[in-house]
Amino acid sequence: MIDIVYRYDINNPVAEVHPASPAEARALLEAGNEFFAHMLDDDPGEGRRTRILNVSPQDLGIAGPQGGPQQHRPFAVVIGCADARAPIELLLGQGANDLFVVRVAGNVLGSDTLGSIDYALSQLSDDLRLLVVMGHTGCGAVTATVDLFSEPGRVLEMAARHELRSIVNAIMPSVRMSNDALIRRYGFKIKESPGFRKALIETAVVLHAAMMAATLQKAIEPVVGDRVGVVFGVYDLCTRHVGVLSESRGIDQQHTFLDPPTNGEEIDALLLDVINGPLVQRVLGLIDDAHAAPLLTP
Ligand SMILES: [Zn+2]
Repeated sequence: MIDIVYRYDINNPVAEVHPASPAEARALLEAGNEFFAHMLDDDPGEGRRTRILNVSPQDLGIAGPQGGPQQHRPFAVVIGCADARAPIELLLGQGANDLFVVRVAGNVLGSDTLGSIDYALSQLSDDLRLLVVMGHTGCGAVTATVDLFSEPGRVLEMAARHELRSIVNAIMPSVRMSNDALIRRYGFKIKESPGFRKALIETAVVLHAAMMAATLQKAIEPVVGDRVGVVFGVYDLCTRHVGVLSESRGIDQQHTFLDPPTNGEEIDALLLDVINGPLVQRVLGLIDDAHAAPLLTP
């Protein structure tokens, strides 16, 4: 049995500890995800595994001595996909009032998303230390974009669906760049591989999250300096880890957020690293399960 418990103990109230820096906020989220991912690693069978998240009465909305609503005090903004399989607070091990979550299909940066981030940065700056862009494996929005890229004739199906097209249009540059990088690495024949579509989807998921994070970093740096950090990652629906699977980082280093790329060379390096990494290699059939990291593929 597995219990995930949000606990307020009136006899032992917890003191709120908020991260003082972007690095502390990042470490807190990574530790929360690490616990969540491993907690579900093996079926405990007859045993019982419990994860307790202590929460303060104020954060739960239980009025304090003075009454009135709790202060709004998230320490991180997370831009995630609307996919119901990626519940942000749960998978990052956080409770109420910890995260300012903006979820939209494909974690794209439309005007509503940017406006929400603007609000958080300007109104919640006392506690805010980190901005996270989080994609996930097998993303439906990225998959739809890959399929449209592969069959451009289908664009007519979306001709009158302007809102949906705005999501696809936001993801398309990452799909094109991922496609070009895969061909550069493996040649045109790779497009005939049965695993190519999946490889393109998972490469584009990473690149798209990286590009959104890079965009945000450029936008907010002049305003917040180094007071608020920006990172990105991909939530793996199968292993439940957040990270980026790449060639250059060892398996024990893959479950951490990454800093966004800052120029074209870093984008190319990231793409090559992901394409040479265990996930893409495996879906392309270039390595077998015995030689791959414990992976992904939903
Ligand atoms: Zn998605």
